[in-house]
Amino acid sequence: MQAVPSEFLAIDRKQRANSAFFDLDLRLPEIRTCDFDDVVIEFAPERAMVEASRCIHCPDPAPCMLACPTHNDIPSAMWLIEQGRFVEAAGIYHKTSSLPEICGRVCPHEALCQGSCVLNKHHQPVLCGELEAFAVDYERRTNGYIIPLGTPTGKKVALIGAGPASIGCAEQLLHAGHEVTIFESKPAPGGLLVYGIPNFKLPKDVWQEKWEEFERAGVIFVPNTYIGREKTIDDLFKEGFEAIFIGVGSEIDAKMEDTPGTDLSGVYEATDFLIRGNVTPDLLPMEMRKPLEVGKRVVVIGGGDTASDCLRTALRMGAEEVTCLYRRTEREMPGGKKDRAMAREEGAKYRFLTQPVKFIPGADGNLAAVECIEMKLGEPDAKGRRKPVPVEDSNFSVAADTAILALGYWPDPVLGKTTPDLETHDWGLITVKDKSKGITSRPGVFSGGDCVTGPDLVVTAMVAGRKAGRAIDEYLRSNN
Ligand SMILES: Cc1cc2nc3c(=O)[nH]c(=O)nc-3n(C[C@H](O)[C@H](O)[C@H](O)COP(=O)(O)OP(=O)(O)OC[C@H]3O[C@@H](n4cnc5c(N)ncnc54)[C@H](O)[C@@H]3O)c2cc1C
Repeated sequence: MQAVPSEFLAIDRKQRANSAFFDLDLRLPEIRTCDFDDVVIEFAPERAMVEASRCIHCPDPAPCMLACPTHNDIPSAMWLIEQGRFVEAAGIYHKTSSLPEICGRVCPHEALCQGSCVLNKHHQPVLCGELEAFAVDYERRTNGYIIPLGTPTGKKVALIGAGPASIGCAEQLLHAGHEVTIFESKPAPGGLLVYGIPNFKLPKDVWQEKWEEFERAGVIFVPNTYIGREKTIDDLFKEGFEAIFIGVGSEIDAKMEDTPGTDLSGVYEATDFLIRGNVTPDLLPMEMRKPLEVGKRVVVIGGGDTASDCLRTALRMGAEEVTCLYRRTEREMPGGKKDRAMAREEGAKYRFLTQPVKFIPGADGNLAAVECIEMKLGEPDAKGRRKPVPVEDSNFSVAADTAILALGYWPDPVLGKTTPDLETHDWGLITVKDKSKGITSRPGVFSGGDCVTGPDLVVTAMVAGRKAGRAIDEYLRSNN
C-alpha cells in the first residue's frame, strides 16, 4: 500500500490521530468555529489519486457497493480516480446517484461505504465519500454536467416538495422525457439540504450548482405553494398532471408539551434555530426573517444528528458554553459518532441521563435556567432500547439563556387529510404498497423519502425518489 505523502496532508498527523472520524483533512476547530464554511478541506488532485490508490478492488459485488444505499460502483470509480481520470469517475457516480456531490459530503460514510471497507480490519478505510465529492466537484469545475434528457413524451408530472426525494424522482423523469413541475411550500428548492443541514456540513453553493442543472434541464419550480392548503392533489390532476409524486419529508418538530416554560423567549425549536442560523434572510419565509438571539450559555436537548448540528451552530454564533442534555447514555444516542466527535472537538459538552422538566424565566421574563431531573436506565422497551427512568428527588438546575429542542420530527398529516383514498399511518406518514416503486393507495400518486419512512437520510430519500420516478414512467407508458 502506498503511503500518503506528508505534503498532501492539510493538518498534522497528531491532530488526525486524535480524530474519531478516520483520516479526513479538517480545518482546525478553533478556526472553523469562527465561520460557517465547510469543515472538511477539499482534496487536491494528487491527494485524491493517492487516497483512491489504497482501494484493493474487492471482487464484485464489493462490500462498499453493497453498503451504499444507491450501490455506487465505488471500486471502478477508485480505479479511475487513481489514474487521474476524474471526469470518467464522476460519470460512474451519475449512473446510480442523483446527488453524488451531496452524498459525498453528508452521508454517514462511517456507517455505510467506508464502514464496510475491508481495509478497516487493519488500516484506515478508503475515504470513498470524500473522493465521490471530489470527482463530481472536479467535473463541474472543468467539463460541467448536463442531465441527459429523454425524447419528450408530452406527459406532465407534478412533484410535491423539492428535497432529495423529489430530486431523485425528477432526474429519472427527465431521463424518460417527461415534463417535471415541482411545487414547494418554501421560497427556495432543496428541502432539508437548504432548510436543515448546516452550511459547515454542506455549503449552500454546492446545492445551488446542483439545482442549476435541474433548471437547465427544464424543471419548472413553483415556490411558496403548500399543497393540501393552497391547492389539493385533486386540483393538480384537474390541471392536467398525469401522475404525482409526494416527497414532502417529515419536518414538524416534536414538542415537549407537558414541560412548563417552552413558550419562553430564548427557547427555540431545532428547525427554527438551524434555519435562521444557517440560511440567508432572502431564502427564508417572511415569518422567519427576525434575527436569532443566541445567549452565552446554550443547552440543546436531544441526542440525534440534529442536536449535534444545533450545538455546532450555537458555537459558531458566539455561545461560550454549549451543552447537550440527553436522557439516556451516550451508548443509546441515535446521532452519528462523526458529528458528535466534531461537536466535542469544537467545544460542546455532553450531560447524559438528564431530563429537563421545566424552563425557568429570569427577572426579565426570558429563559434563565432549565430545571432537570437525573435519570437512570430501566428495562428495555419494545425495540430493546433501555428506557430512561427518573431518579426521585434528584432535581437540579442548569443556567441557560438559550435552549434548543432537538427532539425529532413528525410528518405533516395535511396531504392524507385532503386527498381521498390516500392511505396514511403513524400520524401522517404516507403508506406505500410497494417500497421498490413508491406506489400509494391512490392510482397515479407515488411517494418516497422521509414522508414514507420517517426521518432518515439524504441518500435513502434520493434512492426512494429514483425508484418512484422509474415506476411513474412505467405507469405513464402503460396508461399511454
Ligand atoms: C438538521 C438536520 C440535519 C441532517 N443532517 C443529515 C446529514 O448530515 N446527512 C444525511 O444523510 N441526512 C441528514 N438529515 C436528514 C435528511 O436531510 C433527510 O432525510 C432528507 O432531506 C429527506 O429528504 P426528503 O426529500 O424526503 O424531505 P425534505 O428534505 O424534508 O424535503 C421535503 C420538502 O417538501 C416541502 N414540503 C413539505 N410539505 C409540503 C407541502 N404540503 N407542499 C409543498 N411542499 C411541501 C418542504 O418544505 C421540503 O422542502 C438531516 C436532517 C436534519 C433535520
